[in-house]
Amino acid sequence: MPTYHYRCKNCNYDFTEQQSFSDAPITVCPQCGEEQVHKVYSAVPIEFKGSGFYRTDKSK
Ligand SMILES: [Zn+2]
Repeated sequence: MPTYHYRCKNCNYDFTEQQSFSDAPITVCPQCGEEQVHKVYSAVPIEFKGSGFYRTDKSK
C-alpha cells in the first residue's frame, strides 16, 4: 500500500497515510479539523526542510 504525504495549510501539520489507490484523498486535518489538507508530491523521501541544519555528512 502506498504511503501518501499530506500537509495542512492551516496548522502546517505534516503527516503520512497509507492508502490504496482507490481511497479518497484526505481533506480534513486530523490535528485542527480544518479542510486545509493537501497532498504533497515528492520524489524524494520525506525530509523536513526549514529551520536548522542537521546534515553532517561530508561525502557527496
Ligand atoms: Zn491542521
